Amino acid sequence: MEYILNYTREELNSLLKEGGFPAYRGKQIYQWLYTKHVDDINEMTNLPVRLKQWIMDNYICSFPKVIREQVSKIDGTAKFLLELVDEQTIETVLMFHGGKAVKQRKTLCISSQVGCPIGCVFCATGKMGLKRNLSAGEIVGQILAVSKAHGKIDNIVYMGMGEPLLNYKSVLKSIKIITDEVGLNFSSRKITISTCGLVPEIKKLSEEKIPLTLAISLHAANNELRNVLVPINKKYPLEDLLQAVKYFINKTNRKVTFEYILVKDLNDSISHAKELAVLLKGLLCNVNIIPANQVAGTAMKRPNGRVIANFAQMLQSKGIETVVRSEKGADIDAACGQLKASTNGND
Ligand code: SF4
Repeated sequence: MEYILNYTREELNSLLKEGGFPAYRGKQIYQWLYTKHVDDINEMTNLPVRLKQWIMDNYICSFPKVIREQVSKIDGTAKFLLELVDEQTIETVLMFHGGKAVKQRKTLCISSQVGCPIGCVFCATGKMGLKRNLSAGEIVGQILAVSKAHGKIDNIVYMGMGEPLLNYKSVLKSIKIITDEVGLNFSSRKITISTCGLVPEIKKLSEEKIPLTLAISLHAANNELRNVLVPINKKYPLEDLLQAVKYFINKTNRKVTFEYILVKDLNDSISHAKELAVLLKGLLCNVNIIPANQVAGTAMKRPNGRVIANFAQMLQSKGIETVVRSEKGADIDAACGQLKASTNGND
């Protein structure tokens, strides 16, 4: 049986037509799934009985199942362990931004693969290896499962488990579904895809000319260090990566974000900051500094506050737009590099 969330609205309309139903039923089904967050066919009250039966006979129509929800005592960040149809599990993280005085914005960090084959040294997901890619519907299903309980999401970031550009086709299709005006109706500008730097796929994505945000997990400004931290750098060194980023900017006119995990005594010195400023000089970009989180099995430590501030100030003094990202959900292993889809909530 096929997963109903894998279809764009146009595809669903064609399937319905083939099944002998009018195409407008596709719009109704889409609205139930994507605007009312209903995944029980029997609750789709404006569908005729024969159509409900046809869907039940031919399609799996359920959102990923939330089997655990952990909420951070520090900042309210919620981490969800979701079970897929084949019982594989993935993690999805809901973060809140803005103080109490303003309306809080919600950002959902979604996964694109079960595990990840890239093996970045600071990342718990990388230690799992790759189990499989997610389908477009499984990617979108994370948004639906969380929205059902927590309401409308404002921003989507493909920064959870997996390297999105290694699952290019499904990720692109998921964006098409997420941005459908009849369904979730997300603006592409509210979507960020984060990559460790797959050069051919960045170029391919540039050609799509989708005005989304591209984020690069950089973490080092020279090849020697980046080869260690992000092993894919041996295949796609910084020179090639920067060329691909420029290509993306030329095609989309979008500012690119560089993520830089700051690790004590590894990449946190003033000379590292200067090297980074030289690398990014003149680029339409900003830098997110992420003070390292403790990941089991690694010796990484977080620099102290003064070192973090000095690093950021050096970049700013060189004209590079820089923010130090506030840590989210570190007490529930929901922060950057900590996702690993364990069914044991305590490890
Ligand atoms: S940081 Fe991203 S690309 Fe690197 S191992 Fe983790 S999930 Fe994979």
